[in-house]
Amino acid sequence: TKKAVLGPLVGAVDQGTSSTRFLVFNSKTAELLSHHQVEIKQEFPREGWVEQDPKEILQSVYECIEKTCEKLGQLNIDISNIKAIGVSNQRETTVVWDKLTGEPLYNAVVWLDLRTQSTVENLSKRIPGNNNFVKSLTGGANGGVHCTDVTNASRTMLFNIHSLEWDKELCEFFEIPMKVLPNVRSSSEIYGLMKAGALEGVPISGCLGDQSAALVGQMCFQDGQAKNTYGTGCFLLCNTGRKCVFSEHGLLTTVAYKLGRDKPVYYALEGSVAIAGAVIRWLRDNLGIIQTSEEIEKLAKEVGTSYGCYFVPAFSGLYAPYWEPSARGIICGLTQFTNKCHIAFAALEAVCFQTREILDAMNRDCGIPLSHLQVDGGMTNNKILMQLQADILYIPVVKPSMPETTALGAAMAAGAAEGVGVWSLEPEDLSAVTMERFEPQINAEESEIRYSTWKKAVMKSMGWVT
Ligand code: ADP
Repeated sequence: TKKAVLGPLVGAVDQGTSSTRFLVFNSKTAELLSHHQVEIKQEFPREGWVEQDPKEILQSVYECIEKTCEKLGQLNIDISNIKAIGVSNQRETTVVWDKLTGEPLYNAVVWLDLRTQSTVENLSKRIPGNNNFVKSLTGGANGGVHCTDVTNASRTMLFNIHSLEWDKELCEFFEIPMKVLPNVRSSSEIYGLMKAGALEGVPISGCLGDQSAALVGQMCFQDGQAKNTYGTGCFLLCNTGRKCVFSEHGLLTTVAYKLGRDKPVYYALEGSVAIAGAVIRWLRDNLGIIQTSEEIEKLAKEVGTSYGCYFVPAFSGLYAPYWEPSARGIICGLTQFTNKCHIAFAALEAVCFQTREILDAMNRDCGIPLSHLQVDGGMTNNKILMQLQADILYIPVVKPSMPETTALGAAMAAGAAEGVGVWSLEPEDLSAVTMERFEPQINAEESEIRYSTWKKAVMKSMGWVT
């Protein structure tokens, strides 16, 4: 017998850098009913290059949908209650494919990839006047529908974030033929229907770049509300309402969301850290000091301090607020006493220090310091990390009980779309999500001393590559 209808359900594809997931939520409470996750391979064909197989990504999406539907069946939940599907994806990762065969021409070039550094340097020389030309405009399948949404488009440097159109001048400058680019739509409208599989015929009606999706999932709809997502990298976005704010402190201006064809566009200031969870994966895959990411917590707990060891994981240079491609990772402050537990602790601290740097920049740009930080993402399951973060920021850190905020945001956008209308975007519809708070426990002075030592370590990481 099928379980009583719980209310309309909404699915979300969360295609991240480290994994793909499909999740199904109850649109009346935001309760997560079932999900499936598949880790995605990353290829490093040369130093600084990061690629993924687009076919593997696509296959992983189908697999996650099918497995989740099977799990729902086992729970006696009727999948015909799924009324819409939202998509959230890693931003800036780029695939070019043949429009006739659907075959990719090359692997996906992942957002972490550094190969275009020399191209960027050459292009910078051609920028008329100063590089505000680009900054002021951009803020920084076959037989199917070839489209994307404004949040994804705003990450390409080809999109004018004021007019919300591909920009002819920018496309000419970067020598990208406009005809290869997808149609740009709002983040919440019916784009098409599922063409195959268990959910054939269900509308796909939400699309947001992962960080925008998390902002929506955290309900940061007001000017000045911010969230930080801890995944492969860390991304702090602050809603600046309907105005574009340009940073004086190394942050980017980006489209936050546009939840409907006739709805206004909202903007955000963004601070990004390239390497956050990726440093944990590196300790697992390259050093082998842990078998699973979760084990890092056990190691860090054993010592409860880095014992003066600092780890700057500038594997791909440093992002905000430094934007320093010449930086490379360092572990410093080592003594005879240092062991793998201290290094594990230092890796977690590094994530917190990097967040502090972007929060400081955000506070300076916005003028009003944040009173607390809303967080989410895979790493926030780590309680030591969350407590360290509160200690280092010296403000409370607030984490939803259900950390899959990115997927939730995509589901909300899909459920709220015109013609679907099963999600109201009001707080009442999130009753299943409770909050956990981490209060600062060390004193501000101690926090400042650690932070200033971190900055010394950052200075040492710069200038390694010329
Ligand atoms: P993404 O969306 O970028 O794919 P996720 O939000 O899925 O990332 O988070 C996965 C990242 O978080 C991985 O880099 C993993 O190493 C890290 N991670 C997962 N669990 C933990 C944990 N308990 N402690 C520390 N890091 C973790």
